[in-house]
Amino acid sequence: MEKIQLVDLKNQYLKIEKEIDKAVLDVIKSTAYINGPEVKSFQSDLEKYLNAKHVIPCGNGTDALQIALMALDIQPGDEVLTPSFTYVATCEVVALLGATPVFVDVYPDTFNIDVEDLERKITDKSKVIIPVHLYGQCADMENLLKVAKKHNLKVVEDTAQGIGANHTFSNGDVSKAGTMGDIGTISFFPSKNLGAYGDGGAMVTNNDELAGKLRMIANHGQSKRYYHDKIGVNSRLDSIQAAILRVKLRYLDDYIKARNEAAEYYHRAFESTPHITAPVTASFSNHVYHQYTVKLHDVDRDALQKHLADKGIPTNIYYPLANHKQEAFTGMVKPEHLDVTEELSRQVLSFPIHTELTDEQLEHITQSTLEFVNG
Ligand SMILES: *Cc1c(COP(=O)(O)O)cnc(C)c1O
Repeated sequence: MEKIQLVDLKNQYLKIEKEIDKAVLDVIKSTAYINGPEVKSFQSDLEKYLNAKHVIPCGNGTDALQIALMALDIQPGDEVLTPSFTYVATCEVVALLGATPVFVDVYPDTFNIDVEDLERKITDKSKVIIPVHLYGQCADMENLLKVAKKHNLKVVEDTAQGIGANHTFSNGDVSKAGTMGDIGTISFFPSKNLGAYGDGGAMVTNNDELAGKLRMIANHGQSKRYYHDKIGVNSRLDSIQAAILRVKLRYLDDYIKARNEAAEYYHRAFESTPHITAPVTASFSNHVYHQYTVKLHDVDRDALQKHLADKGIPTNIYYPLANHKQEAFTGMVKPEHLDVTEELSRQVLSFPIHTELTDEQLEHITQSTLEFVNG
């Protein structure tokens, strides 16, 4: 059996080796390394895939969030509502711009932003909501968008983990994650579901004016070459990464299917034990399983991780310390309790999930887990 990894990028590459190698070599030979034709082509391929009007590529998913907030004119003193149970990048960019992150609790079943808690925390300083499509399923966008509209707030969807997920509205409309709010942000970090071979990111919007602003801010605030209307940043997707992403985008739906098959295997195995709650998918979303994250009950999590590591099975905790408890945010936020978030930090464990898992590996992982949790 091949060594089990949290993410297996090598075997995924080997299956598309010829196409990738050609795409990379073509860029090298073209010398169009910055903003070359591959970047434009990838942009339009992704617009089609997402059924979105504008995709604006950038350097990474964190830049995408920062540029999105800059385009929405976030100022010092403004409040931005985000879940605390997310990767630090979501909240970090808020603080970086001098605004205040307001941390919202999440639902205990889907781990996504709790829309009632969100509405309770809105003040006259609130400007933007950043829902996160955590682990690969959509936040409750229908209710969240209603709250945003009622309070006149903008919405930036952090879609770093959710690319390709579908949200179904009660009228039957289906939208891709990242296309429902004012701006969606995506990361192409190698381990993400659509991963480059280095850093990459993108912003998505259906609003022409915002698209122009995002593009300008990502390019030194330039409206015309050497004419700078705004203070911007330098954030680009490089041509080699765009060429790789163009190839991989064609396989994204297959990758999502493979992840779902692995998830089904886990579900079937873990159904039998009261010590594990498998991930729950909301009725309005599908799941693209960026992570396969379970909740443990009456299990020593450290000991389980060690038991699995001894058997060659890596696991991880996303995230062991929620953002409202992080040293970095002290002084910026009111000391408060987010009950569900704090309990999840103690309960969650993420298993290997990627496009290359074999049944043999899945059997080894699930058997080793069950033998431990069932004592
Ligand atoms: C990965 C990730 C980001 C940041 O993306 P980078 O490309 O690493 O900057 C932001 N938000 C979430 C939820 C992520 O998982």
